[in-house]
Amino acid sequence: MKDDTLLTHAGRDPQANYGIVNPPVYHASTVLFPTLDALLARGQAAVSYGRYGTPTHFSLEQAMAALERAEGAVILPSGLAAITAALTACVSQGDHILVTDGLYSPTRRFCAEELKRFGVETEYYPPEIGADIAALIRPNTSVVFTESPGSQTFEVQDLPAIAAAAHENGATVINDNTWGAGYYFKPLEKGADIVVHAGTKYPVGHADAMLGMVVYNAASEARIRRSVKNFGGFAGPDDVYLAQRGLRTMGVRLQRHYESGMKIARWLAERPEVLRIMHPAMEDDPGHALWKRDFTGACGLFGFVLDTADRTALSAMLDNMTYFGMGYSWGGYESLLIPTWPEKSRSCYSWAPGGQTMRIHVGLEDPDDLIADLEAGFERLGKAG
Ligand SMILES: *Cc1c(COP(=O)(O)O)cnc(C)c1O
Repeated sequence: MKDDTLLTHAGRDPQANYGIVNPPVYHASTVLFPTLDALLARGQAAVSYGRYGTPTHFSLEQAMAALERAEGAVILPSGLAAITAALTACVSQGDHILVTDGLYSPTRRFCAEELKRFGVETEYYPPEIGADIAALIRPNTSVVFTESPGSQTFEVQDLPAIAAAAHENGATVINDNTWGAGYYFKPLEKGADIVVHAGTKYPVGHADAMLGMVVYNAASEARIRRSVKNFGGFAGPDDVYLAQRGLRTMGVRLQRHYESGMKIARWLAERPEVLRIMHPAMEDDPGHALWKRDFTGACGLFGFVLDTADRTALSAMLDNMTYFGMGYSWGGYESLLIPTWPEKSRSCYSWAPGGQTMRIHVGLEDPDDLIADLEAGFERLGKAG
């Protein structure tokens, strides 16, 4: 089954539900057992207590696992909750973990402020390290965490090379695949053991719910399931429904995000106000060869660097955009444009791009309207600068 067919059909069974196309939304805490025998055997029941999930959760888990070619998936209340669940399932006191420096900032904070308290040491490595990561692996290295392309700076990682080195030394490889959305990148096929997602982004797709997923290979299933169960994370059924509904159209949405994103990236590349673009699908991007080898497309999120960091000029541009909104998260249908400061959250390499770093999310609007909006913004930037 191809991915677009899978997104349409995975995780639903209309004939098990009166022929209704979409799975029902179960609201549940207590689940009743008809006999004492059934109560005592509840560990074997498909549904035994609300917190352990209902068919609403199983529907999305099955669809995500199928999309990622995974053994299974578990739903968490946010992308960050999925990341912290995956990490806590894999580390113990005294461990050392290797984490990409191109990291989503809240993951970095979790390592620095929480894992540290439990005696887990985090070491950052440059995203482009590839097979050289072998030199950093210690006997107590339990996890190599990857995120590709990296947040804000969009470096592509050589996941197969990193995974080979990690596995040779018994470490587990976790990949944050929010950018690839499980659609344009299949990390489990490239060596990852566990993949985490901010379902908040493209799976939900409409900026109206928060959700996370951990998908895992067979070897990682027991510890992920155990840890999630013990920590008690639970996503509400209405939000889970929004994500499984969003998945049905994610393929066509992503294709449009990709196409419009490329058109706008190419337009930006010609602008005198733009010093550089960070978009791995652009031919001159340093990560392009790896992206071409491992990815089948690109989402609507990328970066660029403006030739000025002047606050007055930046305000003149950003305060008056017609279609581009300023705000966090991404992956919804709408376009977003914000300044970012990767230089504040890098540990092992410096980011000195010579101007203001920006992050753009190209939404589903007509790209020509978006280009006109950017063009007018650049005019205000130039006049105020
Ligand atoms: C947004 C994001 C997350 C966190 O997702 P939330 O649902 O906001 O918690 C994790 N990783 C990446 C790469 C993200 O962009």
